[in-house]
Amino acid sequence: MSDKKIILPHNHSERDNILVEEIPSLETIRNVADAMKQLGDPSRLRIFWLLCHCEECVINIAAATGMSSPAVSHHLKLLKSAGLVISGRHGKEMYYRAADTDIVLKLHHTIEEIARISCPEN
Ligand SMILES: [Zn+2]
Repeated sequence: MSDKKIILPHNHSERDNILVEEIPSLETIRNVADAMKQLGDPSRLRIFWLLCHCEECVINIAAATGMSSPAVSHHLKLLKSAGLVISGRHGKEMYYRAADTDIVLKLHHTIEEIARISCPEN
């Protein structure tokens, strides 16, 4: 948040000025926007939803979603950099799953609520 006091041109109520002072910083908003931007892509959203329910390798994610492996790898890289997906090596292969965070769980359930679909785990 900026230290600079912002005076709104129209003074409708004291509440407006309080809200202006509480607008999150651009940096905070950038982190939220980045996570949402990554999920704003239908292919990434499908991969993310799948990985909310299982841990899979690139080859199986590609087969499950009908995408090429290089395309899946590209999407996974972006999902990882947004903190939405994590990876781990098992033997020779790399496996991916949704990050184990509160925000990921909320996004997972938000997707299901908006799409009006049930969580397969329920
Ligand atoms: Zn679910």
